[in-house]
Amino acid sequence: MKIFEAIKEAVNILKDTETPQLDAEVLLCFLLKRERIYLYLNRIEELDVDIVDKYFKLVDRRKRGEPTQYITGHQEFMSLDFYVEPGVLIPRGDTEILVEEVLKKIESLKKPVVADVGCGSGAISVSIAKYKDDAVVYALDVMPIPLEITKINAEINGVNDRVIVLKSDKLAALEEKIEEIDVIVSNPPYIREDVIKTLMTEVRDYEPYTALSGGEDGLYFYRKITKQAARLLKNGGLLAYEIGHDQREDVTSILVENGFENIEFFKDYAGHDRVVLGWKK
Ligand code: GLN
Repeated sequence: MKIFEAIKEAVNILKDTETPQLDAEVLLCFLLKRERIYLYLNRIEELDVDIVDKYFKLVDRRKRGEPTQYITGHQEFMSLDFYVEPGVLIPRGDTEILVEEVLKKIESLKKPVVADVGCGSGAISVSIAKYKDDAVVYALDVMPIPLEITKINAEINGVNDRVIVLKSDKLAALEEKIEEIDVIVSNPPYIREDVIKTLMTEVRDYEPYTALSGGEDGLYFYRKITKQAARLLKNGGLLAYEIGHDQREDVTSILVENGFENIEFFKDYAGHDRVVLGWKK
């Protein structure tokens, strides 16, 4: 079977999924250990039978709903490579907006101290450390797998000297760092419990429930983290959140109630409110 024939058949098998062509190509690249351009330049190359066999097994896993990123172990984020596996949320493009806004705000600071609450794969922590090369980032998570994966990703991206990975229930591990922290950033679980069962299988059945659920009203983590942040941040420090598309008002109220001011919002590529920033007085 030739490269283009295998892809054509895979696209057909994956026709009811979101991105059949992309996934068919990414899975074959993963097996061939090649970039996508290779497929276009070598369309008529004959594939080994064992590769073809392995390929259609992967395509079948994808067809049944497993995210391509968990199959290949990779996701790109902020133009960096991240290793992912079940147990951490797959980094989302929307979260890049959060990281970019934080990077703009800390550009002129010297050796800013940043805390990332619920680090997951380490997408936020590692990107901030990578693009602000004197930042020190505390990557916090309460679950063991995210801590391990964040260490791996800090290493892959050469920032393990400035990403400090700590087991922590929200900000608990930084209690003794009162007024040393310049920025607290988080993409917390924010989906309402009753909404989770309506999500697509890729998310609902494969991504960690603990990384998705924000409790009954989706706001549990914003309440807890904001309260802790109001105490731990330096005066004039920044609190930066990713939010759900309909949480702008609620999260703003939580920030204001806890003494944050100059609240700013940023939209995602689909035009939804996605990022909220507030400053400690
Ligand atoms: N901080 C990680 C990310 O943004 C994980 C977030 C989460 O698990 N809720 O991808």
